[in-house]
Amino acid sequence: MQQKEMEFLTSECKKFYEKHDPLYPKLIEKREFGFGFEKKIDFRHKRFGENRELKEYLATNGPLYVSYSVAYYTAPEARPMVSKNIEGSDLVFDIDVHDCKLHDDKFSCDECLERAKNMVMHLIEEYLMPDFGISKKDIWVNFSGNRGYHVHVEDERYLNMNRDMRAEMIDFLNGVGFDAGEFAQSNATSESPAWYGRIARCITQKLESSAIRTKKANRY
Ligand SMILES: [Zn+2]
Repeated sequence: MQQKEMEFLTSECKKFYEKHDPLYPKLIEKREFGFGFEKKIDFRHKRFGENRELKEYLATNGPLYVSYSVAYYTAPEARPMVSKNIEGSDLVFDIDVHDCKLHDDKFSCDECLERAKNMVMHLIEEYLMPDFGISKKDIWVNFSGNRGYHVHVEDERYLNMNRDMRAEMIDFLNGVGFDAGEFAQSNATSESPAWYGRIARCITQKLESSAIRTKKANRY
């Protein structure tokens, strides 16, 4: 990039951050920040004690890119990585769309992004909020930059989950271990929680739509 272009862009970013607050992540003092001008991250290992400090930094320097860790550290500014001492991490779901006939795997089209958006809304409204009791204010969605979106969960109750617990959560979302026999023996209704309710609602809908079709068929 030409120096003149860079000067123009950073001065516009500075002006923007003088007037606007960035979206502050929770527990800012425990996250590592990185900033970029030429690249996405030119330097990192930065820590901010509070939201105001980050805003001041952005308004003074006008970086083109800002990143922060999904992990929480005792000492985010420390190096090497192990001395940061990890305390927990946001839950992050990476929703990507693949196998589109309209383009190669690096980019996405409107249709792909639409599909990805629907998957994001489905994950949030059908699973994260009702099944896990996560509140809307603790959920963030970011465009991942090419093929989809990242869904971040900042709910304190889930930050300390280890790798096995996170894998268990993914299994749950995929319906792994669902026992159709047990479901058939249960008294599940549309009001039942999680998968039982989901499947009961699905069956009810199917029955209702086939009942409507049968009625129509009878009429003509
Ligand atoms: Zn596509």
